[in-house]
Amino acid sequence: MLFSDVTSKFMEMEETTKRLELTDILASLFKESDDDLKNITYLIQGKLAPDYENIEFGVSDKIIIKALSSVSAMPEEEINKIFYKTGDLGTTAYEISSGIQQKPLFTEELTVKYVYDNLTNLAKSSGHESIRTKINIYLNLLMNSSPDDIKYITRIITGKLRLGVADSTILDSLVSAFSDKQYSDAIENAYNFHPDIGYIALLLKNNDIERINNTGAEPLIPFKVMLAERLRSINEINEKMNHNSAYEYKYDGLRTQLHKKGNVIKIFSRGLEETTLNFPDIQKNFKDNYKFDSIIIDGESVPYNPDTGELYPFQMVSQRRGRKYELNQVSKEIPIVMFIFDILYLNGKSLVNLPYPERRKILEKNFKDNDYFKLATRIVSDDGDKINKFFEESIESGCEGVVAKNTSNESVYRAGARGWLWIKFKRDYEKELADSMDLVVIGAFNGHGRRTGAYGALLMASYNDQDDTFESFTKLGTGFTDEVLFSLPKMFSDKIVREKPARVNSKMVPDMWIYPEIVMEINGAEITVSPVHKCAYDLIEKNSGLALRFPRLIKIRNDKKPEDATTTNEIIELFKMQKKTK
Ligand code: ATP
Repeated sequence: MLFSDVTSKFMEMEETTKRLELTDILASLFKESDDDLKNITYLIQGKLAPDYENIEFGVSDKIIIKALSSVSAMPEEEINKIFYKTGDLGTTAYEISSGIQQKPLFTEELTVKYVYDNLTNLAKSSGHESIRTKINIYLNLLMNSSPDDIKYITRIITGKLRLGVADSTILDSLVSAFSDKQYSDAIENAYNFHPDIGYIALLLKNNDIERINNTGAEPLIPFKVMLAERLRSINEINEKMNHNSAYEYKYDGLRTQLHKKGNVIKIFSRGLEETTLNFPDIQKNFKDNYKFDSIIIDGESVPYNPDTGELYPFQMVSQRRGRKYELNQVSKEIPIVMFIFDILYLNGKSLVNLPYPERRKILEKNFKDNDYFKLATRIVSDDGDKINKFFEESIESGCEGVVAKNTSNESVYRAGARGWLWIKFKRDYEKELADSMDLVVIGAFNGHGRRTGAYGALLMASYNDQDDTFESFTKLGTGFTDEVLFSLPKMFSDKIVREKPARVNSKMVPDMWIYPEIVMEINGAEITVSPVHKCAYDLIEKNSGLALRFPRLIKIRNDKKPEDATTTNEIIELFKMQKKTK
């Protein structure tokens, strides 16, 4: 397939923000894509592989400007001016490419495969000559591209393709191209255990429904973790679970999935990032203590004092994120214990369809507590007094509360889903506003006075997972330390966009739009009905949405993607919970 066919689909996609239209365009692209299907599923997300393979282009805007200057004989300052005027490096490359009079006589045919292979080589080049190599590959692509092609190639390389399609839209398009809606749930489930769009695309194209139905956990492939709903009291939880429940301590650390296959042990985060290098101690402790052929466990890692059993705050672990650690460095640090609360795979067999009590039994048979790995503390009971006492003990032990786990025969491991099989209960839930929320930054307002040079407030949105849109919900201006506040302009610099981004739904117009990528955890005083915000618009009251009053930043959630933010439906639930207690 020629890359220009992909380019024309990209252009069509830019013309619409309607999810159904985007799905149709993508479905027709997939149908035409033949052997290039897998690569195209990555390219439309601006990637070369699933996220967990950690492939990065390693190309800054500056390098592209240098390359454009060398090919056009235009000084870098001139190119910078075009970049400043257009606000987009893709359009800048388009303009430069249109102005080049003489392209070589014998150009390569710009197929999808040619582009994909070249981009792969570009991403793979490392070492001291790598900048030169990357520039050469880029220029070669430019010479063989039309101005429109290079516009999108440039955006892909600089991480700004931004076609506004989430995984869920791509999955829907694949279903529409190759399968049937009756399989949608099974396909979503397969994707949650094997979050590689290219892999799912090929299964669907080959009509391999058997594999789709049977995709469970696979060692060394990170899965989307199971999530919990929330309720406000133990009584409500007991009722919701039909008195079929166990209660576990809710540890306040870092969600950790540990995989082993043969001699390889890998650790992944909640967001599917590989974090093995951040936790060489966990890796070594597992290797030294257990001899499983293959296994996957799910749990929470918490820094702790082995002498007293005391648990320390989450931050002491989180500092390690994103940094590589050597064993000798971490051995001087506070040790980490992984509290294991689930097992998804053991010695060649996926266990995800077994009920939770059976999975727990397998855990108990295979793990005895030691300083590095312990099973989550739990009770099996529906006696309110006993559970309340257990809840108090969890707080005493440095935990955040409890997670109730359904013990019925239906209690499978449901990857990627927030459902009623797990229900969390924290101390905060007794307050008026039941829980903090994770909201997405969609805009910013200029700061004045002491905040000149930084932002006065941020426009924050919830995620509507039905429509795949971000709906404005509150204007956040409090809770920032100076350090965080003055670091935001740099953090947002490559996310500021001229126009309202395609998936953003907001009446309020900020001084600048921010492409929805950053998630922040927010507390507030109350959720109210508001004509100003678009969250749950028309759903609670005609011509009104919901808004959060007196929002306050708790922390930036680097471990969450925008699609992991609190959903509009959850906010409606929180609004109802709040009304009940009034
Ligand atoms: P969520 O993960 O639900 O989106 P969050 O990351 O903001 O939300 P919380 O709402 O505080 O976290 O609670 C859910 C998290 O609690 C789980 O994702 C998991 O990391 C953690 N957790 C701690 N102990 C347990 C346990 N025993 N069972 C399940 N999860 C637990």
